[in-house]
This record gives sequence, C-alpha cells and structure tokens, in this order.
Amino acid sequence: MLGQMMQQPLLISSLLVHAERHHGRQEIVSRRIEGDIHRYTFRDMAQRSRQTAQALDGLGLQHGDRVATLAWNGHRHLELYFGVSGSGAVLHTVNPRLHEDQIVWIIENAEDDVLVFDLTFVDLVQSIAPRLTSVREFVVMTDRAHMPDVPDWRCYEDLLAQHDGDWTWPAFDELSASSLCYTSGTTGDPKGVLYSHRSTVLHTFGVALPDSLGLSASDVVMPVVPMFHVNAWGMPYGACMVGAKVVFPGADLDGASLHELIENEGVTLCAGVPTVWQGLLQHCAKAGSGLGSLLRAIVGGAACPPQMLRDLEETGVEVIHGWGMTETSPFGTASVLKKHQLDLPDGDRLHIKAKQGRCVFGIDLKITDDEGVELPWDGQISGHLMTRGHWVLDEYFGRNESPLIDGWFPTGDIASIDPDGFMQITDRSKDVIKSGGEWIGSIDLENIAMEHPDVAEAACIGIRHPKWDERPLLVVVPRGGAAPSREELIAWYADKIAKWWTPDDVVFVDSLPLGTTGKVLKQALRDRFAGHFDT
Ligand code: ADP
Repeated sequence: MLGQMMQQPLLISSLLVHAERHHGRQEIVSRRIEGDIHRYTFRDMAQRSRQTAQALDGLGLQHGDRVATLAWNGHRHLELYFGVSGSGAVLHTVNPRLHEDQIVWIIENAEDDVLVFDLTFVDLVQSIAPRLTSVREFVVMTDRAHMPDVPDWRCYEDLLAQHDGDWTWPAFDELSASSLCYTSGTTGDPKGVLYSHRSTVLHTFGVALPDSLGLSASDVVMPVVPMFHVNAWGMPYGACMVGAKVVFPGADLDGASLHELIENEGVTLCAGVPTVWQGLLQHCAKAGSGLGSLLRAIVGGAACPPQMLRDLEETGVEVIHGWGMTETSPFGTASVLKKHQLDLPDGDRLHIKAKQGRCVFGIDLKITDDEGVELPWDGQISGHLMTRGHWVLDEYFGRNESPLIDGWFPTGDIASIDPDGFMQITDRSKDVIKSGGEWIGSIDLENIAMEHPDVAEAACIGIRHPKWDERPLLVVVPRGGAAPSREELIAWYADKIAKWWTPDDVVFVDSLPLGTTGKVLKQALRDRFAGHFDT
C-alpha cells in the first residue's frame, strides 16, 4: 500500500520560492568586482533569477545543457545558482585559480554551452576562448558601463533587462542533474561530480541542521569558501532554506577585508579553509581587535589545527570543524559536541572538537582495513574511510566505471572513529608516511608543531629513506621575526607522541605552496625535498 501524501519533487527552485515567500525582505549583501557594496533582498534576487532563467531560455538553452561560471562569491553568481539549475540546465562552477590548460580541459570535458564570468577573468577568457569548442555564448557578469569591448560577448545586465521575470519554474524529475563540480585533480585529471536536485536539497537540509552548521533566520552568514568550490559548502542553498542574511565577500579574501565585512554587516557565521582563518586571526592580532559579532566559525577543507581552534574559541567564537569532499556535496561530518560532552574540562572538549566530527542523518561512515573488513570504532585504530548517503556520488561524470566498493565510496582518507561516532582523519592515504612498514599520520605531527609559539605554519611529509622506506620531514614557516632551531623543534615532540614518529629533520621555508582551494600542496614539497634523506 502506498502512502497518500503529496508528492512534490525536491527541486532547487523550491528553495528560492520558499525564500521569496517567507523571507522576501531578508538582505543579501555583496562586495562587487566593480568596487561597490551591493544590497538587495531575497525578493529582488528571486525576481532576477527568473529573469536569468528567461535570458537562458532566450539563448536557446535546453534541459541538461551546461552553463559554466568563472566567478567570485556575489549576488549575480547566486542568481545563476538558481536561474540555471531552476530552469533545468546544469550549473558548472569552474575554479578560476586552476591553470589555463586545466580550465580548458574541464570546460571541454563538461561540454559547456555558455560561459558566464566576472570582470576579473576577462583576460583569462580572451586567452582560452579559441580553445573552447563547445561554448557558443560568452556572458560578462557586469553592466553596460563596465563592459569590455569584445565583439559577440554579451552583457549580463543587458540580458536581464530584456526580460520581465514573469516566469514559472518548471517542474521535472528531482533526479535531474542540477550542478557540476570537478575535483582539483591533484592525482590525475580532474573528475566531474554531477549533483542532482534531490541530492542538493537533501544536502541542504543536512547542512542546516543544528548539529551541522546550524543555520537559522537570525543568522548573518558569510561564505568565504568560494562558490566555485563545492557550492560554497551548500551555504547559498542553506541561506535560502532558512532565510539567513547573506554576505558575499567578492574577490578580496584577506583578513582586513573580511574583518571589515564582519563588523559592518554583523556577520554571525563564517565558513572557510584554515588558511582563510589564519589570515583573519593574524589581522585581528595586528589590529588588536576581536571578531565582533561572529558567533560561529566553520573550519573545513583541511584539518583545523588545535591551536587555531583555541585562538578562535578564546575570542568567544564557537568553532565547528567540518569534513567533506567534492564527492560528498561536500558536507560529511561536523564536530559538534553531544550532551554528555558539554561539561567536560576545556582541554577534553577541545580535543573532541579538533576531530573532524560525526555524521548527521543522510550520510554514513565506516573504516576498513586493506582487505575491506570493517574496523571497530574505538578511536584508536585507523583505516580507510568509506562513506555512503543521499548526497554521495555514485559515478563520476562521463566515466562509465563505478568507484564504489560494496556500495560505499572510498574517500582516500585514513581515519579512526571513536565510540561516540566522532571521526578523526589521520591523513590522506597519499600523504600518510610509511616508515618501516608502519603508518605515521602527518596531521598529528603538524598540529604539534603549530602549538610551538615560534611556528606559524607547518607541513609534515614522508621522504624516501634508505633504511625505513620513508621518514617524516617537518617543513616550517617561522612566526614573524622568530628563528626556532631544528633541535628545539625536534625536542618539542618529546613525550607528545611515540618516539619513532618524531620527524627526523626540520627545514625552514618562507611560505608553504598552496593549491587553488587554499590547501597545502604536499606533493610539491615532496618533490622539492625528495632527496633529503638520501645521504
Ligand atoms: P580536493 O582537495 O581534492 O580539491 P576536496 O575539496 O573535495 O578535494 O577535498 C576533500 C579532501 O579534503 C578530503 O578527502 C580530506 O582529505 C580533506 N579534508 C576536508 N576537510 C578536512 C578536515 N576538516 N580535516 C582534514 N582533511 C580534510
């Protein structure tokens, strides 16, 4: 017997319809590439998203056609999030920080029909346009006054002005594709992950839950994580679902610019990778200021060093450490305490919060050994982290083989899970240090180094060793003006970890190489120091 309840497809457009009807007056603030601060409401945004949909229709776009964006976080990008997906086309957010050849490869692989881009990327698009065989329309996200003089390129504001917004979002199968993101390709060609309307809406519920990011209509959310990086962790959709005020930082992601927006707009919740938080904390330390209205800091994309967690919590900000990946839409886990953990001493609470966290309904985890046998949740044993759920990928775009193993997606991360379900990543499998047949987790070693007062940043890598296969080498960026010695840093590990985990050597550098999403490029460090232990 079937249930007798309404059947409404879970469509991205329904998030916008809700936001317009129930939170129409809520504000969206954007720092624009043109240099000004732009303000409007959800009602305005919904109207312009419909105009965007009409404009795409006018360009002859069909259900399932792809629209690529090269854009920062801003209101026009948000209109495309809804205008493109809502009309049944697929939004392909391209990471503009990638190398030109990779951008071309990705757009060609996705067979994008239309490319919409911010003024920042005019030179880039001019340079790659001759190689983009599928793209038939180029649209600049600006107004007539700022339009570059390139024949055949269209002006976004002109396109919208030709339409009245009198448009009804089409209804279609909730399993239809909605958006496309590519993994960064640090280990081979980038791979496309094709989200569906259903997976995106369910992911949005998951993200908004109180034990995840805990979004609400009383929040002012600032996604610093780019909208080209796994849909800004779902925050644009989440803000619509709950009616939170949104602040988009545009292209200026330095500590001072972000701090100014937090102060001026009363931001309560901000999300970014650890390098973004480091910039903000360094700015605060220099300026002697706090974090104002900020209540919660979402730190994810790479491990949040415990010292950063402490620094943020000392300013009165609650840290939510999250883990996820492109293949998981990306939200996987959040480190939000359970009731019986709330009264633990500070050190114990922070120890739990420094873990990558636990699942909410909709996603599941397990760890396995090399043979695929499930390992216990004792918080000690680590193994291959596997995941499955409503917003986890089934197959990569355009590839006909399934990456799943017995219905679970192998994340490539190595982790332990404690009896409360808190998962802790010890490493990415490609970064784990293999010494004498045993594994050493580099994240632990980095976290300990970063507790040292003279260390600003640290990365630990496995380097070929004549006797042990690999041994850990610690790469350190000293804190401004400090000059810690190798011996001092090696001694710092005494009694903190098993002796054989201690790095064999320390090298000092001015900065760590960062990838396009702000994560340390360990492969570049491994290449640079490849022969370090050879003699
Ligand atoms: P890529 O880094 O390949 O661009 P993603 O952005 O999808 O791809 O990154 C996913 C990976 O980032 C995870 O598999 C994990 O290794 C790492 N990661 C994400 N969040 C965290 C975290 N909080 N702690 C440690 N590692 C993390």
